[in-house]
Amino acid sequence: MHKAKAYSAASATSPLASTTIARRDPNADDVEIEILFCGICHSDLHQVRNEWKEVMPTVYPCVPGHEIVGRVTGVGPAVTKFKVGDLAAVGCMVDSDGICPACKAGLEQFCPHTTLTYNMPDKHLGGVTFGGYSDSIVVKEHFVLRVPANLDLAGAAPLLCAGITTYSPLRHWGVTRGKKAGVVGLGGLGHMGVKLAHAMGAHVVVFTTSPGKKDDALRLGADEVVLSKDSNEMAKHAGSFDFILDAVAAHHDINAYIQLLGRDGNITLVGAPDNPLPISAFSLIMGRRSFSGSPIGGIAETQEMLDFCSQHNIVADVEVIPIQKVNEAYERLVKSDVKYRFSIDMASLKAE
Ligand code: NAP
Ligand code: ZN
Repeated sequence: MHKAKAYSAASATSPLASTTIARRDPNADDVEIEILFCGICHSDLHQVRNEWKEVMPTVYPCVPGHEIVGRVTGVGPAVTKFKVGDLAAVGCMVDSDGICPACKAGLEQFCPHTTLTYNMPDKHLGGVTFGGYSDSIVVKEHFVLRVPANLDLAGAAPLLCAGITTYSPLRHWGVTRGKKAGVVGLGGLGHMGVKLAHAMGAHVVVFTTSPGKKDDALRLGADEVVLSKDSNEMAKHAGSFDFILDAVAAHHDINAYIQLLGRDGNITLVGAPDNPLPISAFSLIMGRRSFSGSPIGGIAETQEMLDFCSQHNIVADVEVIPIQKVNEAYERLVKSDVKYRFSIDMASLKAE
């Protein structure tokens, strides 16, 4: 066991502050990583503030962060895919049982025993797992991803959650050339959804509540932008979508989007607001439309997504901040005031 620097929250209402945590020494199949950048996902904020207390109560102190990119500083003797000095990345999962049907299918995100990167029982050290707002992490090799050399590291970090969480449902629901795909909410996830759906060849329509994001949406790859508060603009798209990805972090009227789906169209929720969303039965029944959700993606698919991003030169649009600005960043995230992901430069942690 050794010590690492980190930022943690002591309660749902306290700011994140500098601390020291324990990391295990690498086991035979572990990779030790010096963290260079960590993205700030809205899930970090939900978790730190215990907004998901009904489903995933937060254990304090909480060290969030699951969009991790860094450099390998140590490997256990059984590690075969990484050596010291390699770039490496870690997303939302650090372990699973490896033997259930989901794991055997490469869908570790559905394993009943998945260990998430933070706030889950840590079977090595006790307590809970600590995430990427830290200078280092030790992770089982299977859950460590290769980072393609051409990707900017600060912008690559958010691919590990925002990237895979949007890539996976776009692929699952067959978004490709000739399909009309909507993206609701131009935040961290949403802007990745736009870039990826555009690269997959779809006709992409962004729905935003922020008039000031219109030009950005087009620059990011949208073919059309709709201000969702304008019912006339919304009505023009009635019954026309093959697929809509809903990446909104707060309560909103999902029925307004279900109406926009064509026959057999699907809307997939990736945003995780704390309160239930009411759904009108008729909006689904008419048109045999479907409504579903999707969590992150499996490890193989996460690597596929990183390689796809490498091929298409896609990274997140990031505002790089030092860790000392993390609390300010959280306040801005609540106001949708970030273009379009904060990425923490972990070198700033050395000053603590
Ligand atoms: P984010 O950067 O804060 O983006 C959320 C976007 O939602 C905002 O930029 C805004 O877009 C829109 N929005 C915010 N408040 C709204 C409101 N009251 N009404 C309508 N639209 C609103 O958050 P994120 O990091 O992308 O995460 C989005 C959600 O996905 C969070 O709930 C997060 O926990 C969840 N998530 C889920 C998974 C998964 O596996 N399913 C993974 C990661 C994150 P506009 O300004 O364009 O309207
Ligand atoms: Zn996330």
